[in-house]
Amino acid sequence: MTIFRTASATDVGNARATNQDAVYANERLCIVADGMGGHAGGEVAAQSAVSGLVHAFHANASAKGLLAGTRKVNQEIFDRAEEVDELHGMGTTLVAIALVPHRSGDRIALINVGDSRAYRLEDGELERLTEDHSLVEEMLRQEEITSEEAEVHPYRHVMTRAIGINDRVEVDNWTLAANPGSRFLLCSDGLTNECSDAVIQEILIANPEPADAAYALIRRALDHGGNDNITVVVADIAVEDKPNPAASSPLQSRFQRTADPLPQDRRARHSAGRAGQRLGEQLVTFRVALFSFALVLVLGGALGFTVWFDKASYYIGINHQYVAIFNGRPGGFLWFKPTLAEQTPLKISAVLPANLPLIEEGMLEPSYAVAQQIVKNLANEQAAIAALNASNATGSGNG
Ligand code: MN
Repeated sequence: MTIFRTASATDVGNARATNQDAVYANERLCIVADGMGGHAGGEVAAQSAVSGLVHAFHANASAKGLLAGTRKVNQEIFDRAEEVDELHGMGTTLVAIALVPHRSGDRIALINVGDSRAYRLEDGELERLTEDHSLVEEMLRQEEITSEEAEVHPYRHVMTRAIGINDRVEVDNWTLAANPGSRFLLCSDGLTNECSDAVIQEILIANPEPADAAYALIRRALDHGGNDNITVVVADIAVEDKPNPAASSPLQSRFQRTADPLPQDRRARHSAGRAGQRLGEQLVTFRVALFSFALVLVLGGALGFTVWFDKASYYIGINHQYVAIFNGRPGGFLWFKPTLAEQTPLKISAVLPANLPLIEEGMLEPSYAVAQQIVKNLANEQAAIAALNASNATGSGNG
């Protein structure tokens, strides 16, 4: 019987206050979701996408089941976002691989919506399987911008497709051969924004054990900046001699909290990370984790570090109906309040509505200069969108 030998890991990163990524990995199904939306929205969307897809796939463990499950999850998250004010506008990426029965043995079914990614390593070659559903990727494809411009572009966070944003969603889906010895990687953009494909390939080749590879990938993304939540699943295709009773009994599989190879101080910062929990429990768990992390910082006499951490960061937010650049963390960090660095002449009414939730939440930027560049780009975005729409008028999707 073909199985996945998996390891998964998720880390809040160096810059974010919460982990809005969610992950699941067992012998037949692997999922990564990267949530977005203010308050608890992103976490709720990502966690419910993962738990919803797990249940749907248990009910129908086929390629069709995986696709139907993705559409069902989209509808459920959309409905919930409409019903609950605090969750309005929430959404998530969703990328998943599943082993599904086929006439000639098992195959791999893959679904993708958003800018998380799936890769395959076979014979030492890394291949990106998925296409990012982001505005920047589309502009790159149309050669409207260069890859250097893409790195500081305000749309680099903006997705053209996500789960839970509309009542219907276009889902990329296909099946692939399940060749023993090949390795799959699912990851959120917190990895790919920090690590090039070449670096990812090198790490996957250098670490034969999935857990070592997962740890090394997270480590590298953190060392490179860790500006977003980072989540990875490494899944090796293996052949198991005797049937595994756990794999065939429904709902027996547990939410694998991963080998979790990260050191203790980081572990406290991990999100609850388990799908299928009720929201209340999840938030309590998360607050406990955040509190533990704060306690570690205080007890460790990490004040100097904390001040540096706070003052070294900038974000784009709103001040009296104008776009502004702040020094600090959105909402403050521990007891540090953000301070206004620059009030720009750009009115929020002149900003594309799609970007407003991001700005309301606070767009964290690596430096003051980058923040200024992005405000400049934001000011020109209406024109850019109009141009993109005009040149895009012929395009129509697949799936
Ligand atoms: Mn992300």
